[in-house]
Amino acid sequence: MKPEKESLTPLMQQYQAIKQNYKDAILFFRLGDFYEMFGDDALKASPVLEVVLTKRQTVPMCGIPYHSSSSYISKLIKKGFKVAICEQVEEPSQAKGIVKRDVVRLITPGTLVEDNLLDTKKNNYLLAIYPHANIKSKTEEIGIAYLDISTGEFYLTEITDDKTLSKSKLELNRINPSELILPKSLKGSSLEHDLTSLGAVNFIEDWYFENQQAKETLLKTLNANSLKSFGIEDKTLAVSSSGALLKYLEETQKTALPPLRPPKFYSTDEYMLLDNTAIDNLELVENLSTKKRENSLLEIMDNTATSMGSRLMRRYLLQPLTNAEKIKMRQKAVKFFIDEGIMRRQIQDLLKNTGDLERIISRISSGLVMPREIIALKDTLILIPQIKNILTHPQTVIDTSPEIINHIITNLVELPDIVTLVTKCIAENPPADISKGGVIKSGYDNNLDELKKIAHNAKEYLAELEQKERRRTGINSLKIGYTSVFGYYLEITKANLQSVPENYIRKQTLVNAERFITQELKEYEEKVLTAEEKSIRIEQDIFSSLKKTILSESAKLHILSTTIAELDVFISFAKIARENNYCLPEITNAYTIEIKDGRHPVLEKKLIGKSFVPNDTLIDGNENQIILFTGPNMAGKSTYLRQVALITIMAQTGSYTPAAKASIGIVDKIFTRMGASDNLAGGESTFMVEMRETASILHNATQRSLLILDEVGRGTSTSDGISIARAVLEYFSKNRKNGIGPKVLFATHYFELTELAGIVEGIKNYNVCIKEWQDEIVFIHKVVPGPSDKSYGIHVAKLAGLPENVINRAKTILIELETNPSNLYNQPSLFQSPHPLQDEISKIDTDKMTPLEALEIISNWKKRYEK
Ligand code: ADP
Repeated sequence: MKPEKESLTPLMQQYQAIKQNYKDAILFFRLGDFYEMFGDDALKASPVLEVVLTKRQTVPMCGIPYHSSSSYISKLIKKGFKVAICEQVEEPSQAKGIVKRDVVRLITPGTLVEDNLLDTKKNNYLLAIYPHANIKSKTEEIGIAYLDISTGEFYLTEITDDKTLSKSKLELNRINPSELILPKSLKGSSLEHDLTSLGAVNFIEDWYFENQQAKETLLKTLNANSLKSFGIEDKTLAVSSSGALLKYLEETQKTALPPLRPPKFYSTDEYMLLDNTAIDNLELVENLSTKKRENSLLEIMDNTATSMGSRLMRRYLLQPLTNAEKIKMRQKAVKFFIDEGIMRRQIQDLLKNTGDLERIISRISSGLVMPREIIALKDTLILIPQIKNILTHPQTVIDTSPEIINHIITNLVELPDIVTLVTKCIAENPPADISKGGVIKSGYDNNLDELKKIAHNAKEYLAELEQKERRRTGINSLKIGYTSVFGYYLEITKANLQSVPENYIRKQTLVNAERFITQELKEYEEKVLTAEEKSIRIEQDIFSSLKKTILSESAKLHILSTTIAELDVFISFAKIARENNYCLPEITNAYTIEIKDGRHPVLEKKLIGKSFVPNDTLIDGNENQIILFTGPNMAGKSTYLRQVALITIMAQTGSYTPAAKASIGIVDKIFTRMGASDNLAGGESTFMVEMRETASILHNATQRSLLILDEVGRGTSTSDGISIARAVLEYFSKNRKNGIGPKVLFATHYFELTELAGIVEGIKNYNVCIKEWQDEIVFIHKVVPGPSDKSYGIHVAKLAGLPENVINRAKTILIELETNPSNLYNQPSLFQSPHPLQDEISKIDTDKMTPLEALEIISNWKKRYEK
């Protein structure tokens, strides 16, 4: 389809040459006011962008207007494409031959800075991984570096213990990057395969990961000559991955990198590890079924007033701390704001008016910033002294205020020079972009003011000139006008042509009139038009130098934005604690979790027409190691299990907790195995997924871990299920260290398991009790010690609206089965073959069926058989 090179126009030759270097991206090729796409790019993009596909010579093409490009870019990025933006890089008027063009940015999911492509409440991470085989210890070690260029945050970590791969998967899952970078040699590897579910995977040459090369890149970016002061000199794996990360950025960004913060190295042990499914199952940041923020823990906890605070809140939730002392420090800051209610409200009101400093700084550097955002930055800076004043008043507070609060006060850096400069420089209500001027305030630059005056006074001047020429010529109908082709002109009707003075130069003839110019008018026109052009250029220069001045303070601005975010988060913690009547949990290094009247933080806010029933918890890894839960569906088992995990997570973020009293022994990891999460795309059955998750829990749980297991063994036959569940429970009980094992909350349908309480050490039976009343059941959601007495499946079926006759029939069969306790699934008479109703029997899928479904099928079958 592609024509030979020789037959291509010079423009298409230029296109082909540029496209060569961006084969895996959609190239947006700037032609006048449009971005055009050609060839395969056009074929791929036009259906996504819903634009018409046309042809240029024989090449398919489509285009979009440049001024509305961002919504089109967004569509492509969301579909997983990269977009290379190719601009005209010289003024068409200066071009000798074809205008020079070049790619100015490669937009990928992990390198976005555009406001409308980003979620303001979520970080957008680009991440590089460097897997490295340690020959000595024969283990695979991993260096991870990631950053959010829209906020400048930059983190490093290394995973080097014996469970590297599974641990790094957990960490990557928590970071949730939009894009991952791997060494090219791993193209097609199993690691690539594993990572694609996390985000777009891209590759960069292996040598960029090479330590010396990486170190140089990092030092260059940090503008430093040693890594010592960053505490990462010996973190060779992390340094390797950060070198590659920065190189990739350099290649995609082209223009200057947004200012980055100093890299922050952390060890994964500093934070609670939340397993792959825990974040989903516990609905920490989004609801399981809607995939939205509503009805998640984050929705309840995030009462922040700024986007910076909101993003930090999300991070705190996904990274609960494991150091008791650090948690207590946070608690003190929260308590401070609980006690200082007026201060809290005053500061939150001020915070509501702050701009998103982090993203504004990045946007300044990428050239996308709008003048209005600079005003927002200034307005934010103006608030800082006010906030500081409130925080330090009365003076007595500061001496006794917690360390974190003092730290916040110190780091609320004031930048009065920037405030003054922006106030003087930028107009109060500037236009959206700088291209048409009107951004710089008058009085800031004399030259600019002069030029603006000329342009502004044009009307007055022309009116005067018109009058003067009328008087001079005696032609009262003489008028001055303007067209973009001829410029300014004097128009004289045909009837008056005889009075035209000699110095008039004829320019254009119309039906009833002629148009003229004079030397004076021409000179004036020149002055007005160049004045406008010049003033816009001066405005742009002033704006650029203002941006430079602001960027020179980016380190301080970064500190400031982090501090605002922290302040916002602690105030939010305090606010929800007050509003929802939370308690200050005691944080200990013991292994016990003890909760009095605990509540589910999300459900308690969402129940309509009834109140939440609080419940107690005691679980300690020893005598009360495994809490075995039985009880009918809908009783509240899952709610209870989740509630214990959520309270623990909240406590370790430093927040207060929904309970009357809580004592939390630090938890290092929370694993969950809940519900049926079919991995159909991965071609795995429910049972396979369930067992895989269980296996990962068995391998990774420690003495400090909290395990939430809901219906393990459910996906297979009853006897298999019971056997697996029992073996798993025995494993936890037997594999204790110094008498302490992981804390297990285990909900099950299998009553048989309740018998283990006396047999397997550490198992305690609990159930969510039910009141039976005139053949109805009432859920009272109260957790009590002891096993539940029966399943109430038929009661629940009735509540769900199954027809009366089916319910009655099920009850009869149940009585039959209870009097003849042979196992439902092993009754030989029901499964003898060949049988006339073989078809019916084949519907019985012992792997997936609930007892009620079995009863229904068998009951129908029996009825017909009896006939
Ligand atoms: P199970 O896991 O036992 O099937 P769930 O935990 O899903 O039950 O709870 C079912 C419903 O019962 C919940 O949606 C909620 O409306 C209600 N519920 C559960 N626990 C409580 C509680 N402690 N207080 C009030 N309502 C509750």
